[in-house]
Amino acid sequence: MDTKLVAALRAVVGERGLIDDPTRLLPYESDGLAMLAVRPPLVLLPRTTAEVARCMQLLAEYGVSIVARGAGTGLAGGATPVADGVVLSTARMRDVLEVNVEDRFARVQAGVVNVDLSGLCQAHGLAYAPDPSSQMACTIGGNVANNSGGPHCFKYGATTRHILGLVIVTHDGEILDLSEPVVDPDGYDLVGLFVGSEGTFGVATEVTVRLVPAAPVVEVQLAIFADLDAACDSVSEIIKQRLEPSALEILDKLTIEAVEDSVFAAGYPREAEAVLLIEVEGVETEVNGIAREIRTILEARGALEIRTARDATQRKKLWAGRKGAFGAMGRIAPDLYVADAVVPRTKLRDLVRRTIEICRERDLRLANVFHAGDGNLHPNICYDRRDPDEVRRVLAAGHAILEACVEAGGALTGEHGVGLEKLAEMELLFTADDLAAMCRVREAWDPERRLNPGKLLPMHACLEIRTAALPPAPTSLDT
Ligand SMILES: Cc1cc2nc3c(=O)[nH]c(=O)nc-3n(C[C@H](O)[C@H](O)[C@H](O)COP(=O)(O)OP(=O)(O)OC[C@H]3O[C@@H](n4cnc5c(N)ncnc54)[C@H](O)[C@@H]3O)c2cc1C
Repeated sequence: MDTKLVAALRAVVGERGLIDDPTRLLPYESDGLAMLAVRPPLVLLPRTTAEVARCMQLLAEYGVSIVARGAGTGLAGGATPVADGVVLSTARMRDVLEVNVEDRFARVQAGVVNVDLSGLCQAHGLAYAPDPSSQMACTIGGNVANNSGGPHCFKYGATTRHILGLVIVTHDGEILDLSEPVVDPDGYDLVGLFVGSEGTFGVATEVTVRLVPAAPVVEVQLAIFADLDAACDSVSEIIKQRLEPSALEILDKLTIEAVEDSVFAAGYPREAEAVLLIEVEGVETEVNGIAREIRTILEARGALEIRTARDATQRKKLWAGRKGAFGAMGRIAPDLYVADAVVPRTKLRDLVRRTIEICRERDLRLANVFHAGDGNLHPNICYDRRDPDEVRRVLAAGHAILEACVEAGGALTGEHGVGLEKLAEMELLFTADDLAAMCRVREAWDPERRLNPGKLLPMHACLEIRTAALPPAPTSLDT
C-alpha cells in the first residue's frame, strides 16, 4: 500500500484507528465463512461519519478497494477482505445518538451491537424487533447490509421493514443523508434499495430504526417430537391455520445434543428427534387463545410433550439454547458450514429431508436448526477445514442444497446474503439479463467497482457491461 496514502489515513483516524501490523490483522482475514481467508494490508477503524468520508475520499484518489466490516459474523464471506483492498471496520462507531420514545425510533451509529440496542429499548417499553441469533455480536450496519432476519422476523419482518433512514458515505466520500424518520418518504426508496446491498453501494455510518411496543405478555412453548417430519408439519399447519406466533424455530437431535453438552444447556430432552420452540406474544387473552390453538395442532401432529415457559428466567433459558446452538456445534467438529436458503413453508419437510440425504450421500455430519416459520433452512455441516477432501464435499453439498431449494421454488438466501459463497448459484435463479440489470444498479452507486468487489454479483456478469479495468478478484469458492 502506498506509504503516502497510509500516512494520510493515519492522520485522519489516529494511531488507534489504523492496523497494519500483520499479527493484529489476523482476526480480519475472514468472517464466519472461515474457509475463505485473505489477509488485508490495512484495517481502518474510524469513529465518525466525517472520518469515514475523509478515508473514502483518500481511497478514491488512490483507486483502492474497500470492504466494509461490522463484527465479521457474516456467514457468506461478505466481509472477506479483497487482495490489495482496505477493510473499513465500524467497531469504534458504537454511539446511540437518539432514542425517541414519542415517535418510536432510534438513531445509532452503524457499529452499535444489535443486543445493546434491544437492551436500551427495553428500558422504554419498546423493542427493536430483528434479532439475529448472532445479536450478542453483530452490528446494526451489518444487519442493514445483509437485510438480516432472526427468530422474531416471522412476525415482524426482516431488517428492511425496520429501517427508517440511513447516513451513507458513497464510493468517493460524499455524505448522503437519507435519515428522515418518516414512514413513506418522497421519491425513490433509496433506503430500501441500500438494505441488503452487502457493502456494494456505500458504507452506512448511521441508521435510524423503527421501534415497536414491547409485548405485555410473552409465552414460550417447547414441543418435543419423536421425528423431525412431524415438527416441520406442525409449522406448516400453524401457518395454514392463520395463527401468528412471534417465532417458530426447530432444532434437530444432533443440535439438541450439542446444546445440552454445552454452556447453553436449556433442558431440551436428549431423547427427542426434534424440538419446536414457539413464542406467542400480545395481550393476555390473545396469547392464551393463540397458545391454546397451537397446542391443539401440536397434539394432533404427535407432539410427545409440550412444555410452557411463562416466566422470564425459563424463557431466557429456552432461547439461550437456540441462540447458542451454532456455538455449541463447536463440540461436534472444529468447523461449521452454515448453509442458508429459503423455501415455501409447505415444502419445509421435503427440503429438510433432501438436505439430510445430500449430506448422507457425501458422508457429512449435519445438524439442523432453523427459522422454520420463515421457511428458512440452516443445514449446518460440521467439518474440519484441514481436510481438503471434506472441504470439497462440504462445498458440493452446499451447492446441491441450494439447487434443491431453487428447484422447489425457493431462493438462495433466507438471510445471510450472497457474499462470495453463493456467487456461482446466482445463475441458478437469475438470467444473464437479470444480472446485467443488477450490475447497472450497482454501477450507479459505485462506477469504479471498488466497494466490496467480487461479492454478491458474479464478476463476469458485470464484465459484459463494464468498460473500465476491474480491481483484482478475491479468492472465490470453487464448487
Ligand atoms: C452464531 C451466528 C448466528 C447467526 N444468526 C443469524 C440469524 O439468526 N439471522 C441472520 O440474518 N443472520 C445470522 N447470522 C449471520 C450474521 O450474524 C448476520 O449476517 C449479521 O447481520 C452480520 O453482521 P456483522 O456486523 O457481523 O456484519 P459483517 O459480517 O461484518 O458484514 C456483513 C456484510 O455487511 C457489510 N457491511 C457491514 N457493515 C456495513 C456498513 N456499515 N455499511 C455497509 N456495509 C456493511 C459487509 O461488507 C458484509 O458484506 C449469524 C451468524 C452467526 C455467526
